[in-house]
Amino acid sequence: VEHYLENIDKTKDLNAYLEVYADEARETAKQVDKKIVAGTAGKLAGMVVSLKDVLCHKDHGLQGASKILDGFESQFTGTAVQRLIDEDAVIIGRVNCDEFAMGSGNENSAFGPTRNPIDPERVPGGSSGASAAAVKADTCLVSIGSDTGGSVRQPAAFCDVVGLKPTYSRISRYGLTAYASSFDTVGVLANSVEDASIVLEVMAGQDDYDSTVSRKPVPEYSKLLGFDKKVKVAYMKETLESEGLSDEIKEKTLAKIEALRKAGHTVEEVSFPWLDYLLPTYYILTMAEASSNLSRFDGVRYGYRSPNTTDLESMYKKSRSEGFGEEVKRRIMLGTFVLSASYYDAYYTKAQKVRRLIKDYTEKLLGEYDFVVLPTTPTTAFKIGSHAKSDPVTTFLEDLYTVQASVSGLPAISVPNGHDQNGLPVGIQVMAGAFKEADMLAFAKYLS
Ligand code: GLN
Repeated sequence: VEHYLENIDKTKDLNAYLEVYADEARETAKQVDKKIVAGTAGKLAGMVVSLKDVLCHKDHGLQGASKILDGFESQFTGTAVQRLIDEDAVIIGRVNCDEFAMGSGNENSAFGPTRNPIDPERVPGGSSGASAAAVKADTCLVSIGSDTGGSVRQPAAFCDVVGLKPTYSRISRYGLTAYASSFDTVGVLANSVEDASIVLEVMAGQDDYDSTVSRKPVPEYSKLLGFDKKVKVAYMKETLESEGLSDEIKEKTLAKIEALRKAGHTVEEVSFPWLDYLLPTYYILTMAEASSNLSRFDGVRYGYRSPNTTDLESMYKKSRSEGFGEEVKRRIMLGTFVLSASYYDAYYTKAQKVRRLIKDYTEKLLGEYDFVVLPTTPTTAFKIGSHAKSDPVTTFLEDLYTVQASVSGLPAISVPNGHDQNGLPVGIQVMAGAFKEADMLAFAKYLS
């Protein structure tokens, strides 16, 4: 704990931590030490963990990096976090992110951007950018993030760490601030596949507080990481031919694919006809869900209330106008638009249908192959401020390779795949069939 507290202090300029629980962490560590001596310590004894600012932790601040939750404290601890605590993890603090997990650069935060420890002029990715930065900067061993459309995997790739998104419904969402409920997952950022595996096995599994959680038993992932078989791997032609993909990332991905072939695995190119529909489908549906989920922030029940109001209506309007940031407001408006009576069928219903096509295709593919391998991101970490002047769609393009798993509800993991000529990290992603985390983790470890 002292080691990490020191590093937090040394790397303050990264703007990763919104709050550090120094005394509390020291105290927990002491208790855990006693348990270790007594032989009663849990599985994660002494593992130092930071939490993305979207996870409820009783009596601790929670803001979703938004002004609208100014001063808010959680009244309960979410299931995933509680399970870490029950296994004697030490929570060291709460870290920055994009406001309500909307973004790809950690720049949409009311607390300002977080910097990438590898190059502080660049973003750490988003929305769990500070989680990835916190792990890379050695300020915690593991950080818990959330992945709705890539928010754990993309920052992992930008910061040279491991980012795991489980199958939808594998981990309870109770106590996770909702962005798009049919996509949201709790995810893990770690230095190694081993660390990610043990944290997953602790957090996953049935929960009475979230009826969507799967009742499937949870394997001991961390004990199943051996890999000595030949597997069938697919890569998608269109994905590797897409326009925005940097040449270096493409080459590195192809090199890995070639290495797999040389090692005797069956590796085949397949066609993915829906690439152009991924982002529109993802953004229409997530904005629709977000507009509904974020209606709870009304200036009455939580956090910020505008001081400039005259009546009930202006209180709602001003609190929301002043409390939410630009990107969140854009998404609430677009989401409300696609759900409005005259456009519902043209956008929302259509997007649901396309989601089904993408999901069916991807599931079928993962019935024929063990894994799909693809880049995590089309580019390496971009400069802070560089996207601000362009339209928001430029930033949406960052998510091209991560949203397929999210739209399909499937598990995916990003592991480091070397560096580009500028020394910036590159990630490679593995996607697997539903609830195939054990196989996926073993393969990802082998690949990295
Ligand atoms: N960048 C994507 C978005 O802004 C993903 C976010 C996420 O996974 N939370 O929606």
